[in-house]
Amino acid sequence: MTSNAGDKGLLIVLSGPSGVGKGTVCSMLRKLAPELVYSVSATTRSPRAGETEGDNYFFTSKDKFRSMIEKDELLEWAEYVGNYYGTPRSFVRDTINAGKDIILEIEVQGAMKVKQKFPEGVFIFLMPPSLDELKNRIETRGTETDESIRNRLSVAVDEIRLLEHYDYAVVNDQVETACSRIRSIITAEHCKRERI
Ligand code: 5GP
Repeated sequence: MTSNAGDKGLLIVLSGPSGVGKGTVCSMLRKLAPELVYSVSATTRSPRAGETEGDNYFFTSKDKFRSMIEKDELLEWAEYVGNYYGTPRSFVRDTINAGKDIILEIEVQGAMKVKQKFPEGVFIFLMPPSLDELKNRIETRGTETDESIRNRLSVAVDEIRLLEHYDYAVVNDQVETACSRIRSIITAEHCKRERI
């Protein structure tokens, strides 16, 4: 049995509303699935306590970000609650071409742009168990102002409407369970791409 698609890796997009726990799920996946490569985004927002350059994000100025857009260095980018976020293109391309799976943890506008360019990607939507629980998670994170919490919640309601464009929905009730579902999806996608 051989694999198809020139042995390229999978491009996996993990998206969903802010506060749903994408970051937490990704951190746990990093431990459970070290064979996956994690894309590090560029952002114009300031680092939160404990975040480090090149690990969580590449923290950049708005001017530098605009220059990355002009030079077409970003696979996708989006403005989210007053800041820019984008995925460096070359790292994603090189990883897939090397036959490794890469996971992009991004918000929904960016995910839809990736879908236009890579319809063969695997699009996973992380769902909150409920909107009340989402509000609770954003508030207890304690890193956001009241205005940011209100903005993030109103964006979240619009974001959840885009669920139909995804291949899979994973409810993040327990982080371990969500990770296990995501790993099962990745395994299934590899099986789907196998050809005799
Ligand atoms: P946060 O400020 O909480 O780290 O991220 C805010 C939102 O931006 C989250 O939904 C996160 O997934 C998303 N995000 C992070 N990196 C990227 C990126 O490269 N592109 C896009 N479109 N969204 C991103």
